This record gives sequence, structure tokens and C-alpha cells, in this order.
Amino acid sequence: MDIYLYNTLTKKKELFEPINNKEVKMYSCGPTVYSYAHIGNFRTYIFVDSLRRVLKYNRFKMNHVMNITDVGHLTSDADTGEDKMEKAARKEGKNPYEIAKFYTDAFMKDMKKLNIDMPEIITKATDNIPQMLEMVQEIVDNGYGYETSTGIYFDVSKLDKYPVLSNNSVEGQEAGARIEVDNEKRNPYDFAVWIKAPENHIMKWDSPWGKSYPGWHIECSAMGRRFLGENFDIHTGGVDHIPIHHENEIAQCKGSFGHNPANFWMHCEFLLVDGGKMSKSLGNVYTLDELQEKGIEPIAYKLFCFSSHYRNKLNFTFEGAKASQISLNRLRQGYQNHKNGNQDIESSVISEYEERFHRAINDDLNMPAAMGIVWEVVRYETKSPKLAELLLKFDEVLGLEINQIPENNRELPDEIIKLIEQRNIARENKNWEESDRIRDELQNRGYSVKDTKNGTEVVKGG
Ligand code: AMP
Ligand code: ZN
Repeated sequence: MDIYLYNTLTKKKELFEPINNKEVKMYSCGPTVYSYAHIGNFRTYIFVDSLRRVLKYNRFKMNHVMNITDVGHLTSDADTGEDKMEKAARKEGKNPYEIAKFYTDAFMKDMKKLNIDMPEIITKATDNIPQMLEMVQEIVDNGYGYETSTGIYFDVSKLDKYPVLSNNSVEGQEAGARIEVDNEKRNPYDFAVWIKAPENHIMKWDSPWGKSYPGWHIECSAMGRRFLGENFDIHTGGVDHIPIHHENEIAQCKGSFGHNPANFWMHCEFLLVDGGKMSKSLGNVYTLDELQEKGIEPIAYKLFCFSSHYRNKLNFTFEGAKASQISLNRLRQGYQNHKNGNQDIESSVISEYEERFHRAINDDLNMPAAMGIVWEVVRYETKSPKLAELLLKFDEVLGLEINQIPENNRELPDEIIKLIEQRNIARENKNWEESDRIRDELQNRGYSVKDTKNGTEVVKGG
């Protein structure tokens, strides 16, 4: 079945066909590891996870790279301010390498909690310095780069077209409107590819321009080229990357080897909080741990993300996330009900659901539509293990661990769970006599039974 993906470069949905028809080469901008990643960041990684899983569902092999930015991302994306890593290191009284290790480990733990299918290659910026330096040298040799007292800058006026991804127009914008004025720069939109290190900068390397360190944008250009070559299929990030980071990546690749490296540029829209921006100063930046403290599983947050298409803004509220937790419990209970059902179902019903689900995910990852089909299967009146199998197949794409016992029924002995499932089936079939009989049996065994809109809750004692 054809796959259509929205390409920021052409601003339309396009038929996706990999360069090499056996495998998809994809690069994803990874985290800057100077603090805990927040749930907004994870919206973007959940989008990347869905993309990977959809491509694999379509039988493509993946060659997917994600970087860890452990140097060079300045406090302003437009290459001004301090290095975020060094700033965090000073604040926490550690060195930047310790900071990077600590927050990389925390990030990986969270990715695992979200059941994210990990890229084949994860690489740290600091492990790719020679490849970056080589690229900077090419940019300078090709006449696109020039030296100032603070670093090597990219001359955007040398390009045939800049910008190509965003709608920002370079002409007509006053210098300083978005970018700090630097009198040594030839054009206001010129950006740093390589930065000369101040005396107290800890992460720095020898270079033809003295002790220095990479600019954030050159990192991704060089890592993409090293691991995927000069022409690959997909490059991903959040929408904030469109006007600066990705624009500049394309510019550098043109300056170094002559062309844009990726056929598709894909971007995930922002997660908002209570309708506004998520920001540390507003105190509304949440981590997965904070959600868990409020009884929201990371996977329930993933389900929450599926309530909106990745190209739409999504507003986070705790009420919304709690509703997703309830939905997740119901989904898992629905799976169990089918698994324990004993009815047969026509294969045409299964194949029709399969076809509709496949069409939804291949339509630029329409997860809200795909979830609608999943719910139809969950609620299907005939309870059949064949539908449980179908849900498991869909879960290859969703990654919701649908076959887990629902949260509210965890830690109960197997035979009790079995009784609950039998009772649920009886209730689905409106067999109240059987349902009451099982309730009594559960009570005789010391468990109290409560039917809530969240499904059946069974508690020992009570
Ligand atoms: P960073 O660690 O700051 O480099 O960001 C990691 C990823 O999270 C990038 O792809 C960003 O575009 C993305 N991102 C940052 N904030 C949000 C947000 N509020 N919603 C969705 N994605 C975000
Ligand atoms: Zn990047």
C-alpha cells in the first residue's frame, strides 16, 4: 500500500519511496542533554517512534540515526549566548561530560518507559568531531565560510536560495529583529558553524582556528553524512527546528557537498500546556516522572498524543492525560476480553479492519483515525481471540503494550484476573446471572468488586 508523508520542503503530502527500496535511511535530531527532557520533547520522539513503526509495518528495513547533542547548543538557537551544557555544569557544580552522561541516561530510561522503538544508531556529537571539522574546512574551501574573532561563519548570501524550508524571508527583515547584531558578520542571517572557545570553556578541541567547538547545526549535518551518506530519505525534528536548525543544516550541506541531504523533512507540532507555551519560567514544564506521580503511566501519555495528528498543536491538561489513562485501561481490558472470548469471526471482518487501519497510518500517520478503528475492534460485540490477535498486530505500530494487564487490576493473582475477565465477558454478553455468580466467588475469596466507568476494579479486602 502506498505511503504518503507530509514534506515540509514542498509543503505537501507526497508519495514516499525510499532511495534504496530495501531500507529507509532516516536521521532524527536528538535531545540536548543539559536537563531532563519534558513531555513536549517526548511528543516529538513519540512522533518519530510512530514514523519508524509505520515504515516497519510496511516492511521496510530501517537505518535510523539519532544524535545526542552534548556540546555546542547555545542558549539561543540562533547561535548566541552560552553553551547549554557548560551553563548546566556550572550550575550543578559538575563537568559537562558528567552532566551529559547523567541526562542521557535519564532520557534513555524515559524512552524505554514510552516503549519507543530505538534507532539503529545513537551517536554523541562529541564522538564525531573530526567529521565536523572536515565539513567546516570544506565549507571554508568552497567559499561559503569566513572567519571572525569568535568563530567560522556561514555566508548565506552565497547560496542560490535561503531559506528553503521556512517562510521567513531574509530580505526585508531588519538585522536584529530575530538575531543579535554582530558587526563582524557579513549578513544578519549568517550563522556560526564553528565557535572559538573562551578560556573557561571546558569542551574544546584543536582546530585550524585554535581551541574551539562545533556549532549545533554542523553537528547534525556531519553526523547525518557520516552514518547515512550525502543523500538519505527522511530528516525529523520539532517545528522549532524548521526556521533555524534545519534551514542551516541544509545550507551547510550545500556549502560542503553541494545539495540538500534529505528528500523528506518532517516536523512534529508543539505540545502546549493549558493553551500556552511550555516554559520553565511559567513552571509548567512536566517530566514523565511528574505524570507518573499523578497516576498517569508514560504509555497513557503516548495514547494522549495519539488524540491529535502530529502536525496539529496539542494542548496538555492533567484532565486530558487522566482520561487517556482510563482509556488505556479500557483498551487493555478490551484486548483481554477478546483474548478470553470463544467466538469465531469471519476473516472478511478482520481483513476489512486491517485494510482501514493500514490506510489510516499510511496517510501521513493519521493516528487519531487509526485509534478510531482500534476502538471499533475493541468494542466489537463478538469476543474472539482472532480480534485480540488483530489488536496485537496493530500494536506493532501503536506500541501501547496493549497485552498488559490494565493498571487497575495489576498485582492480582492470575486466577483472580481470570475470574475478572470471565465476569467482564459475562457482562458484555449481558449475562447478569453469571456475572453475579463470579462476583460472589471473588468476594468469597476475599476480593471486593466495584464496577466503575474505568472498568472493573477488584481490591483485596475492602
Ligand atoms: P532539545 O532537547 O531542546 O534539542 O529538543 C528535543 C526535541 O524536542 C526537538 O526535536 C524539539 O523540536 C522538540 N520540542 C521541544 N519543545 C517541544 C514541544 N513543546 N512540543 C513538541 N516538541 C518539542
Ligand atoms: Zn539536529
